[in-house]
Amino acid sequence: MSTQNKQDREAWLQGPTAQCQVVPEHGENPWRLVLLGAPGVGKGTQADLLHQRLGACHLSTGDVFRAAGSRPDCEQSPAMKEAAGYMRRGALVPDSTVWEMVRERKGCLHCGGGFILDGFPRTLGQAESLKKLMDSEGLSLTAVVNYDLPFGEIVARLGGRRTCEKCKAVYHVTERPPTVEGRCDRCEGKLFQRDDDRPESITVRLEAYDRSTAPLIEFYGKLGLLVSVAATGSPDEICAATLSSLESRHAERVPQAR
Ligand code: AMP
Repeated sequence: MSTQNKQDREAWLQGPTAQCQVVPEHGENPWRLVLLGAPGVGKGTQADLLHQRLGACHLSTGDVFRAAGSRPDCEQSPAMKEAAGYMRRGALVPDSTVWEMVRERKGCLHCGGGFILDGFPRTLGQAESLKKLMDSEGLSLTAVVNYDLPFGEIVARLGGRRTCEKCKAVYHVTERPPTVEGRCDRCEGKLFQRDDDRPESITVRLEAYDRSTAPLIEFYGKLGLLVSVAATGSPDEICAATLSSLESRHAERVPQAR
């Protein structure tokens, strides 16, 4: 059965007091994935496509910070206001703030449909905290997918990226344009360019990635969870490459191509 558009991430986006209206079917063995890769490799797009194929929820920490940042000033906690400042500059939000936010949402890690973490963990400290929490909750990751892409292509992708204001779907002005310019195909929301996709923030983000996130490749490699995928080609081709890499590890779980 297609799980397309059945994703409801209210509990993730708004926090534990919100409830998801649509809870994915409880699989026996839900996919619990982490996506790694520099900003701009297309993790968000892949998380959406993988959600459609595997049913697991797309959980992006960047989306939580953006959702918090778009609330009225008086509703924002000091920690979220501080996070918005880091985001605008393209810098990483401090581990303590990120961890507090994820820990509050630990119920989402138990979701029957599984999850696809996008943008978290981003530092060794975050990866270690996630491992400890999952161990103590009796949960384990299925795999960690690392997307590889040359630097020049990353910059071109980030500069052309546009995001839907309402449903957060991701487009690209040339690689994945919407049918109607500036409007989301799914919900007709307005598309915008994120502050941190502007040229001055891109370099800062790529430096932060090299310094803080690249070491996670070794961390998950040592745990035997790492799957590497070249992030070249169309989004569908990259998704097919991801499914085939996952299939070679978990043959019984991957749905056949439709
Ligand atoms: P993303 O949408 O994943 O590219 O995240 C956008 C921005 O949110 C990043 O540039 C950071 O400022 C912040 N952010 C998101 N996730 C994290 C994280 N796990 N650790 C630190 N900062 C984060």
